[in-house]
Amino acid sequence: MERLFPRISLLSNGKFTLPYCNCLWIEDDINCLVDSSPPEEDWQWISDHRIDLIVNSHGHSDHCSRNFACPEAQVLMHPAEHERVVNGEIYLRDYGFDLFPDDSVRPHYLAAVKYAPRQANGEIQDGQTISTGRVSFKVLGLPGHSAGHCGFLFPEQGFVFTADINPDAKPFFAMLDSDVDDFINSIERLRNLNPEFLITGHGPALVKGNISKRLAAYRDILFEQEEKILALLNTGKRTIRDLAKEAVCYDGRLPQPQAVYYIHECMMDWKHLQRLERLGKVIQEGEHYYLAPGQRSVLQTLG
Ligand SMILES: [Zn+2]
Repeated sequence: MERLFPRISLLSNGKFTLPYCNCLWIEDDINCLVDSSPPEEDWQWISDHRIDLIVNSHGHSDHCSRNFACPEAQVLMHPAEHERVVNGEIYLRDYGFDLFPDDSVRPHYLAAVKYAPRQANGEIQDGQTISTGRVSFKVLGLPGHSAGHCGFLFPEQGFVFTADINPDAKPFFAMLDSDVDDFINSIERLRNLNPEFLITGHGPALVKGNISKRLAAYRDILFEQEEKILALLNTGKRTIRDLAKEAVCYDGRLPQPQAVYYIHECMMDWKHLQRLERLGKVIQEGEHYYLAPGQRSVLQTLG
């Protein structure tokens, strides 16, 4: 626990350890937890306090796993996230387990990510201001990672809690309702806000200095991945599964456990292909994807 401002503390171990995330603890007239999957030692500390309100950035387990342990708290999150936090089968469906089934992974996944169903009590929407008494913050709809993914702008303190928009990591958009164009627009929205610093959901929480440049580099990862996918299509890769073996979204090597990350990679390649289709660069026939007419010669010119 680290006090950042009067009444606002950061719960973080500074590491990329799933299924945990960096959370904020606001001790005010209304005691509020922003995201609820803090590292174990922080949870031990915070669970001795009265928690009135939990505001979740989105419905992934590594951001809301302790909601179930706070029956007295009001839980708020964007309505696009509500279904998957109450039904494990929907959670698995949303992560692509029905589209890319793997019986070696599915039975273990929910326990591994500490999935614990807990219904939300209410909704948050873009532009809404939440006040806990003396602290207030504004909801920023930042979709792309998932449809209901939100950040939180603390205007008096000059920072945005960005959850899973994290320039120190790679973009993750492996849900049925993820969208690469939305992700790009959300990054641009953050750049235009020009905050003094960010608090991200994983790893070292505070991102200070060169924020616009770092967010641009983070956005550019998406464009670079799409160039790689176009190049792979040009070499004759045709299906999502063929493309996924190349692990474009994981720098060519799937992390462990590979069976899980293979499903994430399939979903993200599919999301890239959907955008490339919208841009007219790729065409789909059944399960096969092809470069659109004209794209092959563009790639050859580029060498
Ligand atoms: Zn997430």
